[in-house]
Amino acid sequence: MNKLKAYFANLSLQRKWMFTSSAVIFFSYAIICMVVYISLHTWLLNDEESKVKRTSDDIVSFLESQGPNITIQQIQQNTGLLNSIVDRNQSVRLFNIDGIEILRINDTSQAAPLTAMREIVQMTVDKKDVFVANEPVRLGFFQGYIQVIHPLTGFESLMNYLLTAMLIAGVGALLLSGSIGFYLANYLMKPLHALRSSMKTVMDKGFNEPIQLAYTSQDEIGDLLKMYNAMMNELQISFTQQQQFVADASHELRTPIQAIEGHLSLLKRWGKDDPAILEESIDTSLTEIARMRKMIEELLELARREEKDDMSEADVIVVLEGVISEMELLHPQARITLSNNDEIGTLFITENALSQIARNILENAIRYCEKVPEIKISVSAHDQEAHLQIADNGIGIDEENLPYIFDRFYRVDEARNRQIGGTGLGLSISKMLLEKYNASIEVKSEKNVGTVFFVKIPLKY
Ligand code: ADP
Repeated sequence: MNKLKAYFANLSLQRKWMFTSSAVIFFSYAIICMVVYISLHTWLLNDEESKVKRTSDDIVSFLESQGPNITIQQIQQNTGLLNSIVDRNQSVRLFNIDGIEILRINDTSQAAPLTAMREIVQMTVDKKDVFVANEPVRLGFFQGYIQVIHPLTGFESLMNYLLTAMLIAGVGALLLSGSIGFYLANYLMKPLHALRSSMKTVMDKGFNEPIQLAYTSQDEIGDLLKMYNAMMNELQISFTQQQQFVADASHELRTPIQAIEGHLSLLKRWGKDDPAILEESIDTSLTEIARMRKMIEELLELARREEKDDMSEADVIVVLEGVISEMELLHPQARITLSNNDEIGTLFITENALSQIARNILENAIRYCEKVPEIKISVSAHDQEAHLQIADNGIGIDEENLPYIFDRFYRVDEARNRQIGGTGLGLSISKMLLEKYNASIEVKSEKNVGTVFFVKIPLKY
């Protein structure tokens, strides 16, 4: 049994399906056949029994209707009517009280023993199954027995015929259900085979080939394939993004490393004895190292992508005031004002994320400004959102560069921005953090006038 279980468990899904559907159809068919066979058998056998009863009753009432004075000789001579009562395949015998046969109508079977009286019994006479009815009769002074023998050959051949027909139909049903099961399983497995070969392609060749499984049906498999397509496309996108990210990151990190390397070799050749070169090289190397550290920290922040915490909440005014005083300490020349007209509820974002976003935007506003930085922050509540507006009087951004400023490592003026310490990651981190909390960020800018960032963050309650 365990071997059979193990064999079945190792079969392909297609064969499992075929065997199971065939077995279910076959067993249902077998049960229906058994019920039909047994009911028909009982019903037909009862019918045969009632025929015997009818014949024996008819004969007894015929003989009794002849009156008490009828003699055995008269009965023996006048068997015409008795012949018409008895079926052709039945044998009827009249015995006297000593069991000696004195009349016989039809001779289809040998006499049966005169045992059970007044009841119909099934027995084998002359190797044939028969129904036997023994009935005592009294005609005037004559006392004897009537014996009706009813052969069951007709009934048996009918039942055998039925059984053969059922068996043939059963084998037919088994073959038919097997082939239908096989065809169906094949049909249903086809998309799964396609899924498997697509997975194999991804395993062998990675995401180099586009993944598109064509299956249009709206059933469970269609749903599964649709999900697989969507999942693989997402994976493909994130895989490409990751490749791009690694390429960009190594490219970005190469620049400070090259600068440090350059300065160190300069030092090695001439700088040891020249205090001016020594001083400058050490300063530049330290600046490059600081930039590298900042970039690595930001890269880690981007790579971390923690799940959003449902318990997150932040008081926007408290957070903004904290960041503003931090900025004022670092950049005392900057003038930052905060205004809020409405009572703002709690925001659905962590304080850490909100301060990081505010810090990035404010740092940019101060960094990309050639005048005395003037930054106006206003906060208002609309429906279920808080709207933050951060406007500066900086250098502004060209219209053609504006769509890309949230991309990783994108800097409007690469050489210049590197010089003033930009990594090109600040805004992409802010956007990533905002998207995590279903918030959004937009920007409007005018060259030499200033830039305005619009941030919308959902309220917690
Ligand atoms: P970075 O670290 O270089 O500042 P960001 O992702 O924060 O990177 O910004 C991307 C680019 O967008 C910056 O390099 C800069 O050119 C431009 N930018 C961002 N904010 C401002 C601003 N307030 N005014 C002008 N340019 C800006």
